[in-house]
Amino acid sequence: MIWVLLLLAGAVAQDVAAQEVSALMQEPAVQAALDAAKRNEPQTIEDQIRLCEVPAPPFTEQRRGQMYRRMFEQLGLRNVRIDAAGNVIGERPGRQARPNLVFSAHLDTVFPEGTGVLVKREGAVLKGPGIGDDCRGLAVVLAVIRALNQAKVETAGTITFVGTVGEEGLGDLRGVKQLFNDTLKGRIDKFVSVDGTGNGIVHIGVGSFRYKVIFKGPGGHSYGAFGMANPIHALGRAMAKISEFQVPASPKTTFNIGRTGGGTSVNAIPFEAWMEVDMRSADMASLMAVDVKFKAAVQQGLDEENARWGGRGKLSVAVELVGLRPGGRTSEDSAIVRTAMGVAAALGQSVQLREGSTDSNVAMMLGIPAITMSGGGAGQGAHSLGESFDTTNSWQGTQRALLTAIALSGALAR
Ligand SMILES: [Zn+2]
Repeated sequence: MIWVLLLLAGAVAQDVAAQEVSALMQEPAVQAALDAAKRNEPQTIEDQIRLCEVPAPPFTEQRRGQMYRRMFEQLGLRNVRIDAAGNVIGERPGRQARPNLVFSAHLDTVFPEGTGVLVKREGAVLKGPGIGDDCRGLAVVLAVIRALNQAKVETAGTITFVGTVGEEGLGDLRGVKQLFNDTLKGRIDKFVSVDGTGNGIVHIGVGSFRYKVIFKGPGGHSYGAFGMANPIHALGRAMAKISEFQVPASPKTTFNIGRTGGGTSVNAIPFEAWMEVDMRSADMASLMAVDVKFKAAVQQGLDEENARWGGRGKLSVAVELVGLRPGGRTSEDSAIVRTAMGVAAALGQSVQLREGSTDSNVAMMLGIPAITMSGGGAGQGAHSLGESFDTTNSWQGTQRALLTAIALSGALAR
């Protein structure tokens, strides 16, 4: 009964947000900006292609970053700069400095140096690595700035536009970590990332811990040196314990041994054995709990193997943290989520609330209102060489991003 009432309360809050956004849409400057966003979509798609044809491999986003910086300057943003991590930053001042909305997309891709990045156009479909994730987001961010300028929209607060580095994989969110912990520390009131394609709104940030575990020992001949502890055997003991972990289904919490290796020959006691482990949860407490069990399993694997051989060929273990993404959540009832949902409703679009691991994770962990929204159109094959983006009605995504930025930047009279 109680949850039914809560759902009803949520629905009512949703309607209020939609009504407020509808009222905002009646303002001539806002309507002009929405018109501009639709009219400019061919330019937005051109930007998307142009950015995507400049490679941005993990940890090597500089070339695309320089291009993005020039685009920010050409669009008249103030104080355009590149920070210590490589994030590209530019401001569009409002009537006041605060609230400061950071509106961003990520520069990096998952593709290594040397990957062919030319974009092919086949009718309405664009094909090229990164064309959706996240060249779409980068182009939508530019389109938002352009539409605000053309319609001379004056926002109450400031919007700081950012192209972030290090969103993907081992980049480990280093761009947003720098942004929140240093570059704009204490000066970010709300955070939006435009990432990928379609019509999702990510409000749950799935956190992850990633480790490389390495067991080491002297090694020796399998027959002649028999009686020594064996790193692969120790690894196997740890793996057996990990594979029996019980984890909550909700909040979804996972563990995976994704890679393993070691040893040199079938007739040698190895001197080394390793595994890479990934654990995830949208709930930090659950993630920490599985992390504690994981570390205990590794230690027990080591101790049991050493004890089994009475300390002969004694092994050691190193547990290296190779990835740390904090988790968190922005409540469905928060103003930022209600506003984003209200924008979609006011534009007659349907959106889906989702969970994901994105730049917003860092903001969510810090308790700063944050969402990651999709950039419209229809994407396929993200993170693959065959990635494609269907531009059909992609202007709807641009309008949704634009109106969300306006509504969150305090343009609403309140
Ligand atoms: Zn992405």
